[in-house]
This record gives sequence, C-alpha cells and structure tokens, in this order.
Amino acid sequence: MRESTRLITAGRRREWVKGKGGSVVNPPVWRASTILFDSVAGLENASSHPDDQLYYGRRGTPTQWALVDALTELHPGAESTVLYPSGVAALSMALLSALEPGDELLMVDSCYEPTRVFCDTVLKAQGINVTYYDPLVGQEIEHLFTPKTRAIFLESPGSLTFEVQDIPGICEVAHRHSITTILDNTWATPLFFSAIERGIDLVVMACTKYITGHSDTMMGSVTAVPGHFDKLKRISGLFGQYVGPDDANSALKGLRTLKVRLKEHEKNALKVAKWLSEQPEVAWVLHPAMSSCPGHEFWNRDFKGSSGLFSFVLEGGNNQDRTVFIDSLEHFGIGFSWGGYESLALPVDPQPIRTAASWQAAGPVVRLHIGLEDPDDLIADLAFGLKRFRASRDQSGF
Ligand SMILES: *Cc1c(COP(=O)(O)O)cnc(C)c1O
Repeated sequence: MRESTRLITAGRRREWVKGKGGSVVNPPVWRASTILFDSVAGLENASSHPDDQLYYGRRGTPTQWALVDALTELHPGAESTVLYPSGVAALSMALLSALEPGDELLMVDSCYEPTRVFCDTVLKAQGINVTYYDPLVGQEIEHLFTPKTRAIFLESPGSLTFEVQDIPGICEVAHRHSITTILDNTWATPLFFSAIERGIDLVVMACTKYITGHSDTMMGSVTAVPGHFDKLKRISGLFGQYVGPDDANSALKGLRTLKVRLKEHEKNALKVAKWLSEQPEVAWVLHPAMSSCPGHEFWNRDFKGSSGLFSFVLEGGNNQDRTVFIDSLEHFGIGFSWGGYESLALPVDPQPIRTAASWQAAGPVVRLHIGLEDPDDLIADLAFGLKRFRASRDQSGF
C-alpha cells in the first residue's frame, strides 16, 4: 500500500467501526473509566490480556487504539506506539525508558528547550549524566562515547536553529556500541523522514503540531522498534500516561489530511524563505531545504520534504527592533507551538542556551511558522514589517 492510501485507511479496523447493519467511517469516541463485565470470569479473563480488550479506561478504548494503530502503520518496522498527553510527556518517557541511574545520555545541543530542562533536572536527580553534543558532530560522536553511554537523543532539524543532523551516520556508530537512539521527529513527521528505516529505535513526536494540525489539541507519541517497545509501554503505564478519547479523535481527523497540509506548508514556506533570503534586512535564513542551513546536505540526502517552520536572522538591530518587526505583522499570530493551519512569528534567542558549541549570528532571530494562507499575502506583510524594522534599526544607530 502506498503512503497516501495508508494515511486514509490506517487504524480503521472493521471491528472498531462496525455497528448493527452498517459501519461508520471514523472510529467512534468511546468515553470510559469503568468497564463492566458480565461475570467475575469475564473480569478475570480481561485481567490476563489487558492490552487487547476493554479492561479499564486508563488502558484505552478503540478510539485510542485506532490512533495507536495508525501511527504505528506510518512507521514501517515499528512494533507499536504509546500516546501521551503532550510532546514533553512523550520525550520524557522515552528518555526514562532508555536510561537507568548511573547511565550517560548524549543530548543534542540544539534540542527543544524543555527537553534540556528535563535532562538538567529530572535525569540529573536520577544520577544520569547528560553530555550535550554539537548537532553537526556526525559520526565523530563516537569519540564522546564512554562505557556508560546508553542512549543518544537527536532532534533534526534542531529547535530554533534548524541544523540537520547526520542521523543514519550517528545511528550506525550507536548500534555498533549497543546504544539506544531516540529522535524528536516532530518537524518532519514520518511523511518527510522515515526515522526507523534510518536506524532510530524510539521516535518521538509532539502530535500537538502537525498530526492534530489545528492548534486545539495537546498530544505526544513514541513509536518504538521491537526490543524497545515493551519497556516503554510498561514504564508509561506505571506513570499513568493516558490520552482522552476526544483528543485521540481529534488527532485521527488531523492525520487524514496530514499529507495535503504538509505539502502546502512546504510550498508556502519555501516561497517565503526564498523571498526573505533576497531581502537586505535579512542576514541568514535557517531553512533545511536551503543551502544556507547548516547540515543542508543531510536534509538533501535523507528527507523527502520540508515543513512550514524555519528561522531567520535579521541584519543587525537589537531586540527592540525585532519587536517592532513582529508587532507590525498582521497575518502572523504571536505565540508558542506551531503546526496548525495558521502562520506564527516568535522572537527566539538561541545563544544563551547552547553549551556544546557556541551559536553566533549578526542580529536577532525570528522563528516563523508558515500556514496555509496565500504566501503572497504573507510576503507583503513581512515586507511591511521589514520596512518598519529598518526604520527602527537605523534610528537606534545600527
Ligand atoms: C512543541 C514541541 C515539543 C513539545 O510538545 P508539547 O506537546 O508542546 O509538549 C517537543 N519537541 C518539539 C520539537 C516541539 O516543537
């Protein structure tokens, strides 16, 4: 089955949609805490196979199972998927399932900031040593291995700065040393990067972004290969991880249109990024599909597309001039998160959070999410903003 077809059919098992006489298209929303059994024998039978039948609300119902099935089907080679109430819950549980006290983790320096905070607080308190590495280290990462290195966490492209990592290269040396590989694949989704086929053991996604796709649902997922799934599932259950059926239904609806949305985000973002790269007020465009982006050659080799999120560096100016730019935009919302149908602009400051390699730029940084609006309207908006930025910058003496 080809990918577009799989996106439409995944998770729609007959037993989950069939009613008396006919069947519905979408798996129904089953809301449940208590599950009732006809007899004690029925309850005891369910207790011995709690994972593939109704048992207790926290173990899910066909609504969540349909989403689990669908996400797993999009990752050829995976055993299964666990759902979480947010992307941060997903990446935390992936890390906790891969590491024990005394182990060492190699964490990419360009990771999502809450990932770093989790490492520096919870993992540290567990006696897990965290070493940050340069996102562009490639196979040289082998020199950072110690006898205690148990896992490598990758995020590609990097949050805020968009460095693309040599994922297959890193996975190859990791597996030679029996080190677990975990990737935050939120930006590309399985449609634009086949993480498991490239050697990743645990694939994390903030489904809050493109999977649900409408800026109204928080969710995370981890999809794991055989050998890693059982521990992930067990520890997630112990921590009581669960998503509600309405959110699962929202994610399933988003998933059906993921491909058409991503292709449009890609086309619009490329048009805006190319235009920005030609503006004198812009010093540097950090878009993985453009040669100006560090690690672009790995994007070119490994990815099937680019999504709607990228950053750019303003030419000179200070944070106040950047504020003038962002505040003058009409079509860009100002806010966290991304992956919905609408455009967003966010001031970001990568410099102070890096520890493995310093990050420098000629001016303040803006992160854009390009939505499904007409890109020419977005460009006109950005042109006006850049004019305001230039006036502010030149007045303040740059
Ligand atoms: C947003 C995001 C997360 C966290 O997802 P939440 O659902 O907001 O907790 C993790 N990784 C990346 C790359 C993200 O952009």
